[in-house]
Amino acid sequence: MLVDSHCHLAFPELAADVAGVVERARAAGVGRLVTVATRRVEWDEVRRLTALFPEVYAAVGVHPHHAADAGEAVTVEDLEAAVRDNPKVVGIGESGLDYFYDFTPRAVQESVFRVQAIAARRAGVPLIIHSREAESDTVRVVREVAEAPGFDRPLTGVLHCFSAGPALAKAGLDLGFFLSFAGIVTFKKADALRTVAATVPLDRLLVETDSPYLAPVPYRGKTCEPAYVARTAEVLAGIKGVSPAELAARTTNNFFRLFTKVPPP
Ligand SMILES: [Zn+2]
Repeated sequence: MLVDSHCHLAFPELAADVAGVVERARAAGVGRLVTVATRRVEWDEVRRLTALFPEVYAAVGVHPHHAADAGEAVTVEDLEAAVRDNPKVVGIGESGLDYFYDFTPRAVQESVFRVQAIAARRAGVPLIIHSREAESDTVRVVREVAEAPGFDRPLTGVLHCFSAGPALAKAGLDLGFFLSFAGIVTFKKADALRTVAATVPLDRLLVETDSPYLAPVPYRGKTCEPAYVARTAEVLAGIKGVSPAELAARTTNNFFRLFTKVPPP
């Protein structure tokens, strides 16, 4: 069994044929999918999708691109309640910092990121992090929340769609986080990323599509969908020097270790 640890089934490109998308994932051996909200207004939709499909789980959060949008104000209590009130809400995110696009003032990005990190720690679910050209601030915020006193549980999480260099990989691993690879690792020009992926221990790797974006080779240019995670896993297996079956087993096992609210088969 494979897992797509990060997709966006509520985005229009996938929502238009969501039953077909889930069916094709099933046929490709993808047994669990986490559909990740990027805005508050999407939370109801991702929860609705979890009710429609047994293998679909959800994360709720606010992406840094939307952190200053009207209606996106979020509190630790809101996030905790969303996790507590629904057994299929299994993570918090998509959270993080994006200084590449800088759509949102950095101070706002950081405060909304911090709220989500605190909520993840309080709720005992993983924090799903998007980090782009914001390595040192990402690590600083995660470390501050991870080391803060007064919590019952550790902070856990994943650096999603990992596409940075060895420094962030090491910092993430040192914090106990998982690194999740998407289709970028299959791209022709991604030799540097493949070199980083080769160094990530097999017990800290996850796979994802980040669909509808970033379709892996040979599907580039098409709308990405969760079924394609099989292709990314196959390429990662080659990088790690293990069989595709072994890579699938390890990443799926890692998924259940991290997303502890998702029942294993
Ligand atoms: Zn995403």
